[in-house]
Amino acid sequence: MVRLNEIRAGEVAVEPPPATDAGLVFIGRIRTPWTDRLGCPRQGRADGPACRIEVFPPWRDALDGVALYARLEVLYWLDRSRRDLVRQSPADDGTTRGTFSLRSPVRPNPIGTSIVTLIGVGDGVVHVRGLDCLDGTPLLDIKPDRALFTPLAPPQAGDADTGGA
Ligand code: SAM
Repeated sequence: MVRLNEIRAGEVAVEPPPATDAGLVFIGRIRTPWTDRLGCPRQGRADGPACRIEVFPPWRDALDGVALYARLEVLYWLDRSRRDLVRQSPADDGTTRGTFSLRSPVRPNPIGTSIVTLIGVGDGVVHVRGLDCLDGTPLLDIKPDRALFTPLAPPQAGDADTGGA
């Protein structure tokens, strides 16, 4: 599966249905030191290398306020992944688990997320540590880390709804 897009013993692939156009747009490109999957960390670390998130021009004004947050959540498109495995064997030992119980890049919609540490923002570039993607990975979104974020909108009734009877 993951490492080089091979299929391992016990893994199960399916024929995916035709893609639905959800209207996703790639809003930037992520620059990292990693050009091959085997050299790329499986999960980013706060003490990892500095990486650049280059935001394309139409979206740069959307970076206003980002510098207020010490940590951000970054969503990206793991564009070199296969997308058809429902069972995977991370240890390559014949045992498998379902894709949705893993953080493997191989998934029907290969979205990766990382909580990153902000180094700085300027000229349409967000400098961070904590990524784990290949150089050139397309950028989907940037948000404040939810643990640091307080909604700016006024409270609404549903905010306190616990669903209890
Ligand atoms: N932190 C993210 C998450 O949990 O959603 C991604 C974790 S995933 C295990 C990270 C691995 O994905 C890397 O070690 C590398 O093997 C692979 N990878 C990174 N960038 C990729 C890309 N653009 N396309 C396909 N695979 C990629």
